[in-house]
Amino acid sequence: MLIFEYSKEGKKAYSLPSPIEDVEIEIPENLRRKTLNLPEVSEIDIVRHYIKLSQNNYGVDSGFYPLGSCTMKYNPKINEEIASWEKVTDIHPYQDESSIQGSLEIMYRLGKALCEIAGVDNITLQPAAGAHGEYTGIKIIKKYLKTHGYSKNEIIVPDSAHGTNPASSAMAGFRVVEIPSNEKGCVDLDALHEAVNEKTAGLMLTNPNTLGIFEENIKEIAEIIHDANGLLYYDGANLNALMGYAKPGDMGFDVVHFNLHKTFSTPHGGGGPGSGPVGVKEFLKDYLPYPVVEYDGKKYYLKYDIKHSIGKIKGFYGNFGVIVKAYAYILTMGNSLKRVSERAVLNANYIAQKLKDLYELPYSELRKHEIVLSCEKIKRETGVTALDIAKRILDYGIHAPTIYFPLIVKEALMIEPTETESKEELDNFIDVMRKIYKECYENPEIVKSAPHNTKIKRLDNIKAVKNPVLSYRMLRR
Ligand SMILES: *Cc1c(COP(=O)(O)O)cnc(C)c1O
Repeated sequence: MLIFEYSKEGKKAYSLPSPIEDVEIEIPENLRRKTLNLPEVSEIDIVRHYIKLSQNNYGVDSGFYPLGSCTMKYNPKINEEIASWEKVTDIHPYQDESSIQGSLEIMYRLGKALCEIAGVDNITLQPAAGAHGEYTGIKIIKKYLKTHGYSKNEIIVPDSAHGTNPASSAMAGFRVVEIPSNEKGCVDLDALHEAVNEKTAGLMLTNPNTLGIFEENIKEIAEIIHDANGLLYYDGANLNALMGYAKPGDMGFDVVHFNLHKTFSTPHGGGGPGSGPVGVKEFLKDYLPYPVVEYDGKKYYLKYDIKHSIGKIKGFYGNFGVIVKAYAYILTMGNSLKRVSERAVLNANYIAQKLKDLYELPYSELRKHEIVLSCEKIKRETGVTALDIAKRILDYGIHAPTIYFPLIVKEALMIEPTETESKEELDNFIDVMRKIYKECYENPEIVKSAPHNTKIKRLDNIKAVKNPVLSYRMLRR
């Protein structure tokens, strides 16, 4: 139901004193809105409507959410509480620096913590998401190379990469060169050698990659790129796999983005806000977007004068609320950040071991924080697809995994349990997956027509794209 459908003429959710009699306010004819169509509802109608809507939603707070690559971990409520303090919400970006020293300190300290975690030296907190961070990082690489007299226009991206990698490179004006993965699911060194030439500006890599596999030849990969005077970009979406264990900076990466809304515990999935800070090695610090937060020993300040800065890439200083949540999370976790990655990896491998007899696990068995199963054999033998299985999972009250990504695995189910789920929760998921496997062979129709127990049944995946309904008025037409 839409709130418009509860509308009844004359109902209202307010009561105001009657107007003063002899004051007449005449709205000029040309300013009167004739088409405004607002629902007329009472207060209780509104409350019930929105409570019902919220109950139709599924989130990390309602159940298991193994959406691979997205790191849908539980977000401790203390982070929300801190981010909603007046001191955080009631400041203005144009306030004098002397009156926002605490806020600048939070940004400065978060930046330092992130640099330590990733093994880089300097950082911008401006980008609003991972993809925005990629674009920022690639622009930094571009400007650096140009300043040093190189005319390079190619970025190499493996075929297992997230779609935003080639997209960001293309947006920044590069030609994207895709290279295949080898039989282990890693960067194929021969293919890399072949792709590298004097036009190579850099390589974008996720490590562990989107299969959840650590690139064991990362040192050699870095060498190949650096020898060609290119730079290495680290897509930090999978940082949850190795905090405290390995640093992209040590692996040879020059530019790193962080998805604060993934690894550092900010609710996401409803469209934002996110935050994608970009860290760089020392030699790239003069290329960061301005301003950056600095500390002179007495006060924190915003530094605008950055020699080769790529300029501003977002209004003001970044999504401050997310910055505060990430900082609160890092402080509360402290050294336990290492245990976050430990548990995330353990949970993913537990699921892999409990399901690999039924669902294919292509490439190597040992994974980091996520696993990619293939339903290709099931599809061949029963006609049931990964999409059908994902829909059937919903019937058991669990959010579906990511499907059909990475592209190199046919009929892919990409599962990332995260560290915040208990063994009981994982066991329940494993049971459900085993049950569904049985259904595929014994009663494939029930899987193919799923979901059955959700409020909304199987959607037409194409219709919303071909025939978007964007307003109530369009719906009524
Ligand atoms: C999520 C993700 C991105 C993009 O990050 P956004 O914050 O969604 O823009 C890039 N690469 C990988 C591997 C991801 O999982």
